[in-house]
Amino acid sequence: MRPGAPDSGRVGRSHRRWGRLRALATALLVAGIAAALARAGGRALIARSERRLNPVGSTPQYRPSDRAREIHARSTVVDLHADSLLWGRDLLKRGTRGHVDVPRLVEGGVAIQVFAVTTKVPRNLNIVRNDDRTDDILLVAIGRGWPRATWRSLLARAEHQARRLQGFADRSGGRLTVIRSRTDLEAFLARRAADPGIVGGLLAIEGAHAVDGDPANVDRLSAAGYRMVAPTHFFDNPFAGSAHGVEQGGLTPLGRELIGRLDGASIIVDLAHASARTIDDVLAIATRPVVASHTGVRGTADNARNLSDDQLRGIAATGGMVGIGFWPTATGGEDVSSIGRAIAYAAGVIGVEHVGLGSDFDGAVPVPFDASGLALVTESLLAHGFDEAAIGQIMGGNAIDLLRRCLPAG
Ligand SMILES: [Zn+2]
Repeated sequence: MRPGAPDSGRVGRSHRRWGRLRALATALLVAGIAAALARAGGRALIARSERRLNPVGSTPQYRPSDRAREIHARSTVVDLHADSLLWGRDLLKRGTRGHVDVPRLVEGGVAIQVFAVTTKVPRNLNIVRNDDRTDDILLVAIGRGWPRATWRSLLARAEHQARRLQGFADRSGGRLTVIRSRTDLEAFLARRAADPGIVGGLLAIEGAHAVDGDPANVDRLSAAGYRMVAPTHFFDNPFAGSAHGVEQGGLTPLGRELIGRLDGASIIVDLAHASARTIDDVLAIATRPVVASHTGVRGTADNARNLSDDQLRGIAATGGMVGIGFWPTATGGEDVSSIGRAIAYAAGVIGVEHVGLGSDFDGAVPVPFDASGLALVTESLLAHGFDEAAIGQIMGGNAIDLLRRCLPAG
């Protein structure tokens, strides 16, 4: 304090305090601008990644024959797997990238789309061997400005994505409905019989690591609306081995508890991405129909991602089904005909009643057409000799039947 200026100390302190406040405000503003720029940059980066990772092949125009279009329009089309929630697009608007949104689903005549949620993806993803040490979804969570809890908790990521799907439904004016029960399913199908311009969505999880290590959190997934859960995705987790993991083991004791809790919650177990031992272990204890939501068959594409004839038979024996994927590793080719060939092969092994569609649209895979071109699959099935009844089953009838048997009552 200077002599002769009794108040200068207080004034000085208040100046300094004001100065500090101003510095703090400036720092907050700069941080806010930086965060906004980072989010904008993150969004741009994710958009660019999606353009690169979810390309659509060179099928020139989606012009199926009149007969294919008529049969397609009479079918109740169900796709058992798309990863569209990951990329941050507004699914109510027709997009210029990726494969799925509500307008394109309606154009493609799709009644029900299963929206799968991925909560953790390792860097340098491959179908042979991945560990769990890296986490690219964290970058998406930060880049898209997800709630802070999603930075640490995979369950928080699952719950956030479920809220996003419900948010789209809430804003859709009835065009999108989230289906959680048999009651929802029947009400939706009755409504859609009068209005084919509406779509149902069903939530699924890729990888039970989404329960943050605790099988009791199956109840949280159930409450969030999840109705199908794959024990593993690209890496081994505390519950089971992945087809693309390091150990590729089977179900652990915790994994057996998980399956019991999924059954108890009427959540369908999905063996896509499961190791051979996990598939065997789940089939040995299955008390409800199980699925492989998006897969290929070794009979047309022999690789670690795809199912052997015995595995197909095992899944069919539970009363379950397989969804045949649309991407080259699944089908063994890059054109629409390869999809029809893989479906025909699977139907030859286990019967048409156990086969359906599992596109893996928006799953970081190239596909020959986007969701608006699904009638091309109907045309390919005609070319592979299926009649209208069989096509109706494959395109969605079997999946509807499965949901009627497996969803909770409501
Ligand atoms: Zn997948």
